[in-house]
Amino acid sequence: MGAYLDHAATAPVLPEAAEAFAHAAAELGNPSAVHAFGRTTRRIVEESREEIAAVLGADPAEVILTSGGTEADNLAVLGRWEALAGEGPEVAGRRLGVVVSAIEHPAVLESAHHLAQRRGAGLHVAPVTADGVLDLDALADHLEQAERAGVRIAVCSVMWANNETGAIQPIPELVDLAGTHGIEVHSDAVQAAAHLPIDFGASGLAALSISGHKLGAPVGIGALIARRDHALAPHHHGGVQERGVRSGTVPAAGARALAVALTAAAERRADEARRLAGLRDRLQAGLLAIAPDARIWSAGADRLPGHLLASVPGTRSESVLFALDMAGIAASAGSACRAGVVGASAAVLALGGTEEEARSSLRFTLGRTTTAAEVDAALTTLPSVLTRARAALEGIR
Ligand code: PLP
Repeated sequence: MGAYLDHAATAPVLPEAAEAFAHAAAELGNPSAVHAFGRTTRRIVEESREEIAAVLGADPAEVILTSGGTEADNLAVLGRWEALAGEGPEVAGRRLGVVVSAIEHPAVLESAHHLAQRRGAGLHVAPVTADGVLDLDALADHLEQAERAGVRIAVCSVMWANNETGAIQPIPELVDLAGTHGIEVHSDAVQAAAHLPIDFGASGLAALSISGHKLGAPVGIGALIARRDHALAPHHHGGVQERGVRSGTVPAAGARALAVALTAAAERRADEARRLAGLRDRLQAGLLAIAPDARIWSAGADRLPGHLLASVPGTRSESVLFALDMAGIAASAGSACRAGVVGASAAVLALGGTEEEARSSLRFTLGRTTTAAEVDAALTTLPSVLTRARAALEGIR
């Protein structure tokens, strides 16, 4: 028996979401058109927007539909910078700064590096503790120094939960801290939205990213939830849809599927969290029984219920993943493969792990369709897979 244990990469599409998508996609009109067909599609978009907003504790006007999490994150970081700074790194004689955590997804981290390299932004990459949680004391020191130096933080982005470890970040404390310095905060909730209750209005955040394919909608839809007064500049131009910051024909079918998937996730959240945490703990205990020297990352932190990131000494991620795949078990290394090449885990390195640990990382992520039988299939397969992976690495050395 095989097992799909890579839900954080892409979750299986929820049948109701697929059906809603197909139904809406069969409508004819462009939602911007004035005729009856267009109005029908427009209604689908607006009703979906209302549903998305209701699930996330937001106002419908705060929902900016995007193609996914990457676009939402880019808009939150680059669009925010452009709105405040335009081309230069200074406004009213004050240097502008960017703060992101060391464990951000590349959609945020690379956007921030782009601003540092191309726009002269002062970039601060905020460290995390050994458990992979934002170090609030260190950040507090940095923000004080920045304020004394007259730097204005234009962009502050910290994810709600990490995609590799699942570690949940202290967003309420961060929002309070940033608020004392008048800084607005964006949070990438792409992984969190499937598993945790999110109340955008109560969170104090200025902006928040989500992605449909992490929660049961098809790939190709996401959203940036952004307060109306949080200025954002568009990063592509055209028909000025979505408050003028995200031009392009609005994806009605995607919006419908996202709304259905979010509602379904919210309805089953509490039971699912308990079920998944039980399965994840069983997988973790089983893995440690097979490889007692394995290191579990963020084990001491609050984690998303289905995440398990481990490093297994004496192995390489790619050979373990390949052998698991041969047995029909889908997992991943910490970081997503880039063009099919398995890289060292960025989270392991940010948590202070060694290069060796980062190259032997193995991530299992469980979700809606995961069963105990799948977990057991992985545990049955792992002993021989790890033995072969260790032998292969010995052979190279
Ligand atoms: N942010 C996080 C935390 C993610 O895990 C991902 C995808 O893995 C993204 C952003 C990018 O989302 P998308 O694949 O929808 O572009």
